[in-house]
Amino acid sequence: MNPAAITVEGVLRSFRGKTAVDVERLELRPGRTLALLGPSGSGKSTLLSIIGLLERPDTGRVLLDGAVVTPRDTAARLSMAAAFQRPYLFKGTIADNVAYGLRLRRVPASRVAALVSESLARVGLPGWESRSALTLSGGEAQRVALARAIVLEPRVLLLDEPLASLDPLMKWRLARDFDSILRQSSITTLYVTHDQDEALTVADDVAIMREGRVVASGPVDEVFGLPVDEWTAGFLGMEPAIRGRVVEVADGVAGIDCDGVMLYAVAAVKPGEAVALGVRPEDVLLFEADVEIPISSARNHFEATVTEIVASGATFRVVIERGSVRIAARISRASLADLKLAVGVPVRALFKATAVRVAST
Ligand code: ADP
Ligand code: MG
Repeated sequence: MNPAAITVEGVLRSFRGKTAVDVERLELRPGRTLALLGPSGSGKSTLLSIIGLLERPDTGRVLLDGAVVTPRDTAARLSMAAAFQRPYLFKGTIADNVAYGLRLRRVPASRVAALVSESLARVGLPGWESRSALTLSGGEAQRVALARAIVLEPRVLLLDEPLASLDPLMKWRLARDFDSILRQSSITTLYVTHDQDEALTVADDVAIMREGRVVASGPVDEVFGLPVDEWTAGFLGMEPAIRGRVVEVADGVAGIDCDGVMLYAVAAVKPGEAVALGVRPEDVLLFEADVEIPISSARNHFEATVTEIVASGATFRVVIERGSVRIAARISRASLADLKLAVGVPVRALFKATAVRVAST
């Protein structure tokens, strides 16, 4: 089946007078994976249920390939498949579980076995048909849930925090596997997660939700590279966009004056333009201020002062400042110790011109 396009228009949904979802417009592009990313309670699952035709919005509509669809459209509903954080697997074999949707859709029994085997192979469980579905690890159960969904060749695939209850090692293995499975199958996918690294791994596009609203959406590089506002920057572990003015453009590289600090970016802009800039924390390298910088193709290097250090999972968010330029870097525990980083310490920052995202303001 061809991948579908989904459009959400003017969708409102509230529970006991409290707005859960208020989305003016959102598009899922055919064959691409859109991550719906936001903190807990921001309305992701409610929006997924509405898009998946599992529930109706109070107002607004969902379009599948340009036609309005509702939970009453059985054909539209059956062209979608979903998997959730805790897969519901029933007693029986893995094959029974994977075949469930096929039987529901009255696929001839003669074809079911082959489709089930093929699907299990795609999710990395070849030959697992006759095993019991109740003895699986969390990661294996998620693979079976994905097999059960993609075996239907859905036009739209809905995944709600599929990896959220796995341990970190399993989670990253599965995230990479999900990414390649989704890429190969080119199913239009809505992938709900609260974890930006997971979104970066699996998604082509991302929509960030806050209190029921979509506050930013677009290709992953754009949305993650240049936060639209302070809240989004904080949520992404970045500092708000840097303001500057283009002073020169040579060979496609723009020199941008940011309150006295010259930053270089590969961007289609013109001298005189006012712009906003962003750099992903993982693209910023820090060195001791008095150290010789190794020869590098990185166009951006300047001295700055550490103003903030915050532990964030296994890494640290280190904010550096020079004039009004504030940039967050993501640093490992070992680097933090190596560089003797502390608030007030001078450092050298290094990043490539290609790592800087620019938008006109
Ligand atoms: P997320 O998936 O981002 O964590 P949800 O869509 O589950 O967010 O929830 C959004 C808001 O709607 C929350 O405030 C939640 O409490 C509320 N909500 C969701 N489903 C229901 C429901 N069935 N009844 C009452 N409130 C609900
Ligand atoms: Mg949820």
